[in-house]
Amino acid sequence: MTTNSNSNNGFTTTVIHADRRSGAEHGAIHKPIHTSTEYAYADSRELAAVFQGKPGYTYARQGTPTTAALENQITQMEGGIGTLTFATGMAALTATFFTLLRQGDHLIASQYVFGNTNSLLGTLAGLGVQVTMVDATDVENVKAAWRPETRMVFVETIANPGTQIADLRAIGQWCTDKKLVYVVDSTLSTPWLCRGIDVYASLAVNSLSKYIGGHGNAVGGAVTNTGLYDWSAYAAIAQPYRKGPSNTWGLYQIKKKGLRDMGGTLSADAAHRIAIGAETLALRMERACSNAMALATYLSGHPKVSKVRYPGLSSHEQHQRADELFQHRFGSLMGVELIDGIDVFDFLNRLRVLILATHLGDTRTLVLPVAHTIYYEMGAERRAQMGIADSQLRISVGIEDIEDLIGDFRQALGD
Ligand SMILES: *Cc1c(COP(=O)(O)O)cnc(C)c1O
Repeated sequence: MTTNSNSNNGFTTTVIHADRRSGAEHGAIHKPIHTSTEYAYADSRELAAVFQGKPGYTYARQGTPTTAALENQITQMEGGIGTLTFATGMAALTATFFTLLRQGDHLIASQYVFGNTNSLLGTLAGLGVQVTMVDATDVENVKAAWRPETRMVFVETIANPGTQIADLRAIGQWCTDKKLVYVVDSTLSTPWLCRGIDVYASLAVNSLSKYIGGHGNAVGGAVTNTGLYDWSAYAAIAQPYRKGPSNTWGLYQIKKKGLRDMGGTLSADAAHRIAIGAETLALRMERACSNAMALATYLSGHPKVSKVRYPGLSSHEQHQRADELFQHRFGSLMGVELIDGIDVFDFLNRLRVLILATHLGDTRTLVLPVAHTIYYEMGAERRAQMGIADSQLRISVGIEDIEDLIGDFRQALGD
């Protein structure tokens, strides 16, 4: 866990210089990959102090200087006060839910979430946490789900794969009034488009496997503490973690119970690769978002395309909100449906530049028929509730040259 140095530099300058500012080793401009499992102390009192909460390293399951350097980068991006990294985005979400919620607690979650998150919420419900899923694009639905046992609200900034945009700021205001923990999954927007702190989130989760790492060569996840939530009234924080400023307790408990007990730790090697990727997040996002806008515009005017769902198009249900909340652009994920009579599988097989693969936020443009793949297991009824059509293609637009992407659609659609 690291603290924000409050630099006034811009996004990319801050991220690129984060390693150096947090203490370069031997002048190395990249944080070295620390492979040591254990950390030794010359002074036994110092060893005991670190076990009792003083910043430092003990055993690599709870972090290394390499993961700490990446955590510092992400804290800076989010404008928060601390971050923890995990082996995957799912490990970050699991640690957050399972360490902060107890049997009988109530969680209000958006019904528009990533398929694996949907599955995780089912696991949580099976263990006795009450989960209510609502259409979080309107804060009124979230308010209506409130119960005395409600402890937390969870939404995705831009939902995967439907691109619905939750009523982010209004929900944040309401959670502040109600003293509820507000967790946003910022994976699809990234902090470059929207920081958790700006929508009054308590915690912001990012899958680092996606845009932040960005090169399809490492999986990882992170939870960032915005510092806005005062945990002193939150009953589920255990006594040993009620230490230091009360706006740090939640993340401290996630570290102790989530990393130490559950052990979904990010490796130093993956942390290094993600940190290198993170340096160019803004550049890649700028290009991918501008490609996505151009592709969405082209496809929405195409006679063989029946529907394009992209927050940058004025036809998107929450376009206005996206325009107000998101800095710069509208993300790079879109949903596309072709008109009846075109076989989706044949169409996909004709693509030459786009890659048929799950994953998103890569430098390469990826396409996936979601109902037949990642959303297959949940069944037709739940898919309908999430607004996922059988013929829907999820396209994660990369940073290729836009002419080549549009050209590939042209040839595959038989123009
Ligand atoms: C991919 C994804 C996750 C999970 O991240 P992994 O690193 O793949 O475990 C969580 N939330 C959203 C919105 C995602 O797209």
